[in-house]
Amino acid sequence: EFGSDEGAEADLAARPPVVTVMGHVDHGKTKLLDALRSANVAGKEAGGITQHIGAYQVSTDVDGEDRRITFIDTPGHEAFTAMRARGAQATDIAVLVVAADDGVMPQTVEALNHAKAAGVPIVVAVNKIDKPDSDPTKVRGQLTEYGLVPEEYGGDTMFVDVSAKSELNLDKLLEAIVLTADASLDLRANPEQDAQGLVVEAHLDRGRGPVATILVQRGTLRVGESIVAGPAYGRVRAMLDEHGESVEAADPSRPVMVLGLTAVPGAGQNFIVVADDRMARQIAEKRESRERAAMQAKRRVRRTLEDFMASMEKGESQELNLILKGDVSGSVEALEDSLAKIDVGDEVTLRVIDRGVGAITETNVDLAAASDAIIIGFNVRPQGKATEMADKEGVEIRYYSVIYQAIEEIEAALKGMLKPEYEEVSLGHAEIREIFRSSKIGNIAGCMVTDGVIRRNAKARLLRDNNVVADNLDLSSLRREKDDVTEVREGFECGLTLRGYNDIKQGDVVECFEMREIPRA
Ligand code: GDP
Repeated sequence: EFGSDEGAEADLAARPPVVTVMGHVDHGKTKLLDALRSANVAGKEAGGITQHIGAYQVSTDVDGEDRRITFIDTPGHEAFTAMRARGAQATDIAVLVVAADDGVMPQTVEALNHAKAAGVPIVVAVNKIDKPDSDPTKVRGQLTEYGLVPEEYGGDTMFVDVSAKSELNLDKLLEAIVLTADASLDLRANPEQDAQGLVVEAHLDRGRGPVATILVQRGTLRVGESIVAGPAYGRVRAMLDEHGESVEAADPSRPVMVLGLTAVPGAGQNFIVVADDRMARQIAEKRESRERAAMQAKRRVRRTLEDFMASMEKGESQELNLILKGDVSGSVEALEDSLAKIDVGDEVTLRVIDRGVGAITETNVDLAAASDAIIIGFNVRPQGKATEMADKEGVEIRYYSVIYQAIEEIEAALKGMLKPEYEEVSLGHAEIREIFRSSKIGNIAGCMVTDGVIRRNAKARLLRDNNVVADNLDLSSLRREKDDVTEVREGFECGLTLRGYNDIKQGDVVECFEMREIPRA
């Protein structure tokens, strides 16, 4: 969830549901998506060139009302899961396609489990009913066993028999989607705010440069606005819909193809509208370095002592490989001797795969990476590019200057007794643009969040020209416009006060961070 500021209840307007089509291979997901799209295009003005833009909107009549539905045009739950892995939830409703001649198959179950895990309501499309050997009743019985009980049997899942091939009952399917949305979801968004949403797909087009299909989730996106999409940014030069027609303004749940980005963002990344190009570039650059750091951090935890401990606890790995480097041969030998004396039991193997005198080299790091080893540096440091390489390869180097400390820690790790370690995780930064003096609550910093998020309950520090001038501060208030809020995201303005600290200046940066236990798995 990003962008917490939806505005007042009165500003919310109904938005169409966003639908993903899932199901077993060959059960007709692609055919169904094509049928729904073409049936709808045919009903509209002829002559437009249909474009595959990764998502499309159709409209249908339900109880005399014109209702719209957005379909994500990539079948299968891989796309759905990939988006979820990025923390993005694009889908409001899942259409589970089951071929009536084949019945429930492994990927049918997988798909419904994914939808359930995401808390997304399911509409079942029993497909291929044109086939003589189709058995839609059997499909209902099978799915009932998985907790999807058809409405006609007293459950709350709508089943619709369709044929994507003969275009049978497609309107009934659309109606079931709308009715399911109305019954179980409150799909509303504020169309008046700056747009936010998700990248559905993106690629580099030879003539047009980077093109991204985005799904507007809140607000309205307009041509000419500056956006940041993942690590890409730019001014929206033009927007096209699935009919190849240009769109001036895209409202919530509307998918559009956006031209004007400087780079190709990834599917599932979010986009936001920001004040201007300069801000867009700044945010994009920060996002990129943050992503790079996050990737490195992910790889780094692979070969730490804590990781070995965790995998040993789980009985996965019973081997701890070490590379010892020390300042003199005596200390290396002493270290190795003491390690050999550690009683680790029968299950665990402690191996010193290499040892030597002198600085930690790139060759040491190479070997450590290849053999999942940890490097122990005793009174020595890395030389040349060894540190950089260790970061890149996810190799942990532990430094000691007292032998018994090294032994103690390794022994503790082998016995699964290392204390949890905490690391600081930076959440975001806000630049102080203006200061409002208040005798009651102290100086209020009028800020722009330039990256990440500012959280009311997290810790803060104050930076001036990149120097820390105050650390470990608490926020005593965080406001967006007139409302107290728990967090404010990048690209938004906020007002905040620091508890017991008033010495703020224009241009100072508030960094928000929290301490997290380093995961052991
Ligand atoms: P996907 O793997 O789930 O995307 O399945 P496809 O849409 O590619 O369809 C698999 C096969 O089933 C294709 O040969 C389709 O032509 C066929 N098919 C899809 N829907 C129907 C249908 O309603 N009736 C019949 N008879 N065949 C269908």
